[in-house]
Amino acid sequence: MPELPEVETTRRGIAPHLEGRRVTEVRAHNRRLRWPVPRAIGTPLVGQRLRGIRRRAKYLLLEFERGTLILHLGMSGSLRILDCDSPRGPHDHLELCFEGNRMLRLTDPRRFGAALWTTGEPSRHRLLASLGPEPLGPDFDGEHLYRKARGRRTAIKNLIMDSHVVVGVGNIYASEALFLAGIHPARAAGRISRERLQRLAEAIRTVLGRAIEAGGTTLQDFTRADGQPGYFAQELNVYGRENAPCPACATPIRRIVLGQRSTWYCPACQR
Ligand SMILES: [Zn+2]
Repeated sequence: MPELPEVETTRRGIAPHLEGRRVTEVRAHNRRLRWPVPRAIGTPLVGQRLRGIRRRAKYLLLEFERGTLILHLGMSGSLRILDCDSPRGPHDHLELCFEGNRMLRLTDPRRFGAALWTTGEPSRHRLLASLGPEPLGPDFDGEHLYRKARGRRTAIKNLIMDSHVVVGVGNIYASEALFLAGIHPARAAGRISRERLQRLAEAIRTVLGRAIEAGGTTLQDFTRADGQPGYFAQELNVYGRENAPCPACATPIRRIVLGQRSTWYCPACQR
């Protein structure tokens, strides 16, 4: 599933090719995505200039002159920049042609992605209105985590994966950040000191920032027709490493299930 770093990298990969250009044609080949793509999605779009592409959580916000196209990549979606007449494959569901023969194509084999048009303020759209702060933005820090954790018995890993608390902390990044902060993933959130939550907030920013940095090497891939965007090669300390030695102390990594998700941690380093 594309995680926040992949979505941010997608934004950086496609934006320079499209910003400032007008839409010339919209082709919705398959409208059955997670929510139906509106039948007339092209009507408000054609002729409009794309002012910019922003990201909020894992949503891409394509801001046009008179509204915003909200895109989500779901479980398996990806975006590419191609020529408008590029041959289409069976999983290419939505295509936006821009002046200059640039096409934005949404490919999504599992069709959990979404494409929705709104003329309102996107931050108040029902999908975005209740989201917590961006992990790399100015509103997320240890104080924020501390306020959200106070009095909560929920496992800290589940708390940081809750998009009302902070967005974009997927399973990989939650496990890795807890390792960096030395916090046991099942520890009750409300019983962790402010100082340790400060370290955790910094660790979340570190692991996501590193992943986005790693994605920078793939930016040219967005204009290639072949291949799928990969997950960024990054050094994982605990994620997926059951029984392997902890990189810090060589104790075998353990796997437990929290919130129905596999979770890996070092029983010696994480308390
Ligand atoms: Zn260890």
